[in-house]
Amino acid sequence: MKRIVIVGGGFSGINVANKLAMKSRRKSIQIILVEPMQDNVYEPHYLFWSFNKDPVKKFTIPIRKILKKKVLHIPAAVTNIDTKKKSIDMSNGETLTYDYLVVSTGVHLDEESVGAYEKDNVHHFYSKEATKRLQEALRNFEGGTIVISPATVPYKCPPSPIEFAFLVDRYLRKRKIRDKAKIKFLYPLLRPYPVPSVAVKVQELFDKRGIEFVKFFNYDHVDKENNKVISLEGDEIEYDLLVLIPPHEGHKIIKDAGLGDREGFVPTDRFTLKVNDHENIYAIGDCTNLPVSKSGAVSHFAAPVLAKNILLEIDGKEPTTKYNGFTVCFVVTSPYRSMLLYFSYNFPPMKFGLHNLFIYGFFKKAFKIVYFKALLRGYL
Ligand SMILES: Cc1cc2nc3c(=O)[nH]c(=O)nc-3n(C[C@H](O)[C@H](O)[C@H](O)COP(=O)(O)OP(=O)(O)OC[C@H]3O[C@@H](n4cnc5c(N)ncnc54)[C@H](O)[C@@H]3O)c2cc1C
Repeated sequence: MKRIVIVGGGFSGINVANKLAMKSRRKSIQIILVEPMQDNVYEPHYLFWSFNKDPVKKFTIPIRKILKKKVLHIPAAVTNIDTKKKSIDMSNGETLTYDYLVVSTGVHLDEESVGAYEKDNVHHFYSKEATKRLQEALRNFEGGTIVISPATVPYKCPPSPIEFAFLVDRYLRKRKIRDKAKIKFLYPLLRPYPVPSVAVKVQELFDKRGIEFVKFFNYDHVDKENNKVISLEGDEIEYDLLVLIPPHEGHKIIKDAGLGDREGFVPTDRFTLKVNDHENIYAIGDCTNLPVSKSGAVSHFAAPVLAKNILLEIDGKEPTTKYNGFTVCFVVTSPYRSMLLYFSYNFPPMKFGLHNLFIYGFFKKAFKIVYFKALLRGYL
């Protein structure tokens, strides 16, 4: 009997657990998922939730409902990983040994280093609590300058600050106060999105909707007393409402276990998904340093590769299955329209995806159902 322990049961961990269970029916393996939360959240919904008050149960699901029978969920946090002893310690006081470890702990949102989110006019939409606060701030907003910026790169779902800019523009128009507001989008590059072809389209829409793009803005800190965001170069942008994506880093247990790079992301082989220099350990999702976006779509395409490679190793074979970096991404441009991008390690986003279509907007909205009914359960 081989034991596979998965640390972190967000989208990546649940997906790998279910894929392993489905692919290993006849094999004698034990699959254990260690995750303190009882529910899984469909994070893309935070973007829309900033502007409405959907009940939380509309975009969450109990983990027990979606795990295959073969997967044991331990509702605890991992407090220590000992790669020499091949064991983990958990917050319930127990220790567990493993034959194979899968690290899927996602990222830590470093709100502390910003030190300004306690203010009524500094917000983000990357967690449930933060989005709830932002809802309130948007409802109370009657005019002024809204500034949107990522604090650092990488961050989850690269287009989401742009999407927020489009949606906030729409929201203010609906409330008939758009003429009382300025929207500024700050970004560290020359263009508002890393991929030039996408950036051209985004800039076109920004111009049409009166959203100001501030290029080469390298965030340094928030001057919360004077309502200014300051760049590394000393540029100052005043805000009445700041939406700042918090810095992302790996979790402390990853660094403590010697599994993280400087930012705490796990150095992972981009093809096999095996953690560099560590036998029997794999990593997937936002916790890795893969040269692709931090997105659920990446995990969706990577999970079958990871599951197959572990099962090959259990059969005494080389883990030769390769992830090619393929992923897809909807870029929301209004509540009804999206662009659809797809790319891989080998090709940049395809041109046809730059069409801003109603049908993609519909897919993006309907995707929540596919996520809960099929993706999380490992069916697609
Ligand atoms: C606003 C927003 C919009 C997004 N839009 C999209 C989109 O349109 N398309 C897309 O593909 N992706 C999107 N994403 C990104 C997507 O949600 C994430 O990339 C995805 O959820 C990552 O899954 P993960 O399992 O790697 O990490 P997570 O979902 O963060 O899961 C990590 C899990 O590990 C657990 N954990 C952490 N530490 C420990 C520990 N010590 N012990 C045990 N468990 C631990 C956590 O509790 C958590 O459940 C969006 C994200 C946000 C925030």
